[in-house]
Amino acid sequence: MNYLSLYFLVKTGLYYTDYIGFHWLANLLLALWAFWPLQRGLRLRRLLIWPLALALLWHDSLLPGPARVWQQLSAISGFSADYLLELLRRAFNPVALLGLAALVLVYHLLSRWLRFSTLALAGILSVPLLASLGSSAAVHAPADTAAGVAGGQEGELQAFYSAERQRKLVFPTTGAPPPFDLIVLHVCSLSWDDLDYVNQRNAPLLKRFDLVFSHFNSAASYSGPAALRVLRGNCGQTAHSKLYKATDPNCYTFPALAKAGFQTSGLLNHSGAYDDFAKTVETEAGLSGRMESNRAGKVQMQSFDGSPIYDDFGLLSTWWTQRQARGPEPVALYYNTITLHDGNRLPGTASRSSLDTYKPRLLKLLGDFDRFVTELEASGRPVVLVLIPEHGASLRGDKVQIPGMREIPDPKITLVPAAIKLIGMKTGAAAAPVVVTQDMGYFGINTLLADLLRDNPFTPGGRPLAKRLEHLQSTPFVAENDDVVMLGGKSGGYTMKSTDGTWLDFGKP
Ligand SMILES: [Zn+2]
Repeated sequence: MNYLSLYFLVKTGLYYTDYIGFHWLANLLLALWAFWPLQRGLRLRRLLIWPLALALLWHDSLLPGPARVWQQLSAISGFSADYLLELLRRAFNPVALLGLAALVLVYHLLSRWLRFSTLALAGILSVPLLASLGSSAAVHAPADTAAGVAGGQEGELQAFYSAERQRKLVFPTTGAPPPFDLIVLHVCSLSWDDLDYVNQRNAPLLKRFDLVFSHFNSAASYSGPAALRVLRGNCGQTAHSKLYKATDPNCYTFPALAKAGFQTSGLLNHSGAYDDFAKTVETEAGLSGRMESNRAGKVQMQSFDGSPIYDDFGLLSTWWTQRQARGPEPVALYYNTITLHDGNRLPGTASRSSLDTYKPRLLKLLGDFDRFVTELEASGRPVVLVLIPEHGASLRGDKVQIPGMREIPDPKITLVPAAIKLIGMKTGAAAAPVVVTQDMGYFGINTLLADLLRDNPFTPGGRPLAKRLEHLQSTPFVAENDDVVMLGGKSGGYTMKSTDGTWLDFGKP
């Protein structure tokens, strides 16, 4: 029996439920070849039709193209065998398999009475037909039919880039040394959605901050590009590909902080060997030879590639003790932690699933930060503490991606809990943080830092934070990974540019 009709019907169904895209012309041609009553070439068709059908399914899916997969193979080869096995187990979806088995059974029983090939053709043709009727042209926009709509989104994206290109920030120099220390906590794998997933949106640590950003977009779904973006926060947001090219030297946050009078340094709670992360930080933050050693730290777990991950509180606390001994020159620290990264292994924990161990790891990290804040407060020094997660862990997964997969920069992955705390205020801390709900990016946070540098918040009578928020700079939602772009719409929905340049509806997260 020929299951090709079922193949086309299932795909049409997946398309209408936003699980995949649909290149209707290619599908129509394949269907015509599959169903045409051929006199000759039957063997060729039998041989090629399924490989072509599977290739077309991949092309229609929102998954990365072969080039990207090939490129990722080298990254995956660094994973431990344990982690690979866990990923495979996660990809196995018994409900979907059972559903497919049920569909095959129904199809088998009904195919005696129904001409499924006619239904399949009708399904394929319904895609351009509905789109041209305009009923849902803006929503379901396959490349073959809705060039106009795609043009709209492409135009919006280009307008975004050209507006962002105009944004440049210079930290002020007042002649005097900066009035506070700056600590940037760059946290891998923590999004608002991850917090929701483990019921920690209202974690006590977040309550201790003065400002919490509910719509900060990290714009990246992987550590490397996230680090490039945070370390170039003095300019507007660029396309993903531009991150790997030289840029205006004034865009680099940490060299700019050094110019403004800070002693800059960097500290990682991991080796930084994977994906050359440490090298990226050294180059981008201008910290060559100035990274703090973490070797004396206590090992708290193993990374997904088997390397040690050091205890966060221990590292931060030791650094702070050493920093205080150093003297009054203000310091700016870039701290990076991968404690929450997918695939980490906790010693003494029975479960090998990093999805099970996320919550205990999160509670430990938040607790560590909490203790660190207490220690900073006890020192009496003025410190501006900035929490910026790199990207989420994708704990929940989405329609297209299994939990832990981050190829598509879903807003559930890139909307992360950024927050700022002014430590050492004489006036006493506010009872609850101010929640900033507007769309934020790195540039907005750095603009706020510039404002704090210009006008010392720690002097009595300094402008209150609420006043400073009046001129906060927003960044519309654009998140990227390789050539996938996610664009936020005004209605709260998102559209996605897939690897082949097609714009598709991604729905509301
Ligand atoms: Zn990361």
